[in-house]
Amino acid sequence: MKKIVSSLLIVSAFLLTACGSGNTNSSSASSATNSSTEKTSASSDANSGASEQEYTDPSQLKDSYDVIIVGAGGAGMAAAIQAKEAGANPVIFEKMPIAGGNTLKSSGGMNASETKFQKEQGIEDSNDTFFEDTLKGGQETNDRDLLRYFVDHSADAIDWLDNMGITLNNISYSGGASVKRIHRPADGSAVGGYLVDGLIRNVHEREIPLFVNADVTKINETDDKISGVTVSINGEEKEINAKAVVVTTGGFGSNEEMITKYRPDLKGYVSTTSEGSTGDGIKMIEALGGQTVAMDQIQVHPTVVQKDGMLISETVRGEGAILVNQQGKRFFNELETRDKVSAAETELPEHYAYLIFDDALAKRAKQVDFYKEQGVVEEGATIEELAKKIDVPEETLKATLDTWNKAVADKKDEEFGRETAMDYDLTEGPFYAIQIAPGIHHTMGGVKINTETQVINKEDKTIPGLYAAGEVTGGLHGNNRIGGNAVADIIIFGRQAGNQSAGFVKQ
Ligand SMILES: Cc1cc2nc3c(=O)[nH]c(=O)nc-3n(C[C@H](O)[C@H](O)[C@H](O)COP(=O)(O)OP(=O)(O)OC[C@H]3O[C@@H](n4cnc5c(N)ncnc54)[C@H](O)[C@@H]3O)c2cc1C
Repeated sequence: MKKIVSSLLIVSAFLLTACGSGNTNSSSASSATNSSTEKTSASSDANSGASEQEYTDPSQLKDSYDVIIVGAGGAGMAAAIQAKEAGANPVIFEKMPIAGGNTLKSSGGMNASETKFQKEQGIEDSNDTFFEDTLKGGQETNDRDLLRYFVDHSADAIDWLDNMGITLNNISYSGGASVKRIHRPADGSAVGGYLVDGLIRNVHEREIPLFVNADVTKINETDDKISGVTVSINGEEKEINAKAVVVTTGGFGSNEEMITKYRPDLKGYVSTTSEGSTGDGIKMIEALGGQTVAMDQIQVHPTVVQKDGMLISETVRGEGAILVNQQGKRFFNELETRDKVSAAETELPEHYAYLIFDDALAKRAKQVDFYKEQGVVEEGATIEELAKKIDVPEETLKATLDTWNKAVADKKDEEFGRETAMDYDLTEGPFYAIQIAPGIHHTMGGVKINTETQVINKEDKTIPGLYAAGEVTGGLHGNNRIGGNAVADIIIFGRQAGNQSAGFVKQ
């Protein structure tokens, strides 16, 4: 690490609050371009605290690399590390002033089945159950080949991360999962900051160049073969050559124009996604004849703070929180899939709800400290005091909590048939409430790939040398993504893209 510091641009990235309205269309790095020593601040829902990172100085840019990776989120960094391990010489271009993308904001965790950590903790799970849960969550519209590869390589991905010092051994429930399967850092904190810090550390240890403020505007072909990219780096446009390009540019949740094109009904919705989630990779691949799938499948998350698009992690429900309406009553199974819970909230006359939980839960879910710091959590020493703060009838809220705590004790939710996340009752004051409603969270559609992460064109043929992984791709999640499956996606298919592209350039 020390060896390369002299050639690195030092950028301090202070991870602050959530991502604003999400209505930004900014797709250009120039808006985010800074002088080489300038301090940069970034947004994150992840409760990861301040993080200082170092990036490669633009003067170190070469004309040619084996593999160009576009986008330094989780998929891009996993691809780079794996490509390097497979003997290639990769480079990463990131258009924002810091690496991380949506991955940095991910707050819940990473799903995986048959892991060593599940086994150690006596959690019975199987790849087939994971497959079935995901298929059910995706309303049976998932690409089954991708899904089979995904579940079968999930435990290996957890081991791969663990071997790099990124240990996700705290396991909980997430919506749509029939067993405890979502893997988080040991202290139960948000996965994003921890994962991104760990991946950047490993990128540096392997001396992989990582350029920020490097906006890739075009993927180039010469004689019908992928030949590299055009990148605007600190405002200067350059053509960089490579035999293989891996596109890991994430989704389009922050591109209002694209959201409205594919889902006019979501116009004006608040978004939880990062500023760089502008769909650039999809557009660049489409320009090369690439096929897209399920572009209208845009996930709306049920627990988003409306004033700033801050996501309240599913971990809070996974650890036992309930949802109540303005009358103080539960109205749905909180652990149903995101599409169904969101629809139930939208049907309420007030179109919002409150997440209700106790102090014991706040201690188990570390993210709550961050939510408190952001001023979105109402607190009452007693349930009655909390009811007054959020203006719901005190007696009703008290009765709702009593009924719920009995359901937890009996392990039977007679009202809404909830079966998971019932390990803890809500009895330890102070009590808390967060007002939430649905917001845009994830774009499940994207470019079509096969299990080797090769991009498929409109004639259903591969585009040799062109690979894609992560949220830029479509198909794995079907019509509804299960919480925890996107982080698994970026590691599993990011690694695969690294391996495959490295193999391709050696041919
Ligand atoms: C608030 C929030 C919480 C979440 N929590 C979870 C969770 O707990 N578990 C889970 O499974 N999923 C979660 N998700 C979803 C998950 O985080 C994302 O789907 C996933 O991290 C996407 O990773 P990625 O590597 O594909 O893209 P990203 O991490 O978004 O990275 C893409 C990168 O590419 C860059 N880029 C874009 N265009 C260009 C270009 N033209 N040139 C160069 N660079 C470019 C972007 O700036 C970005 O840095 C969450 C999402 C959000 C928004």
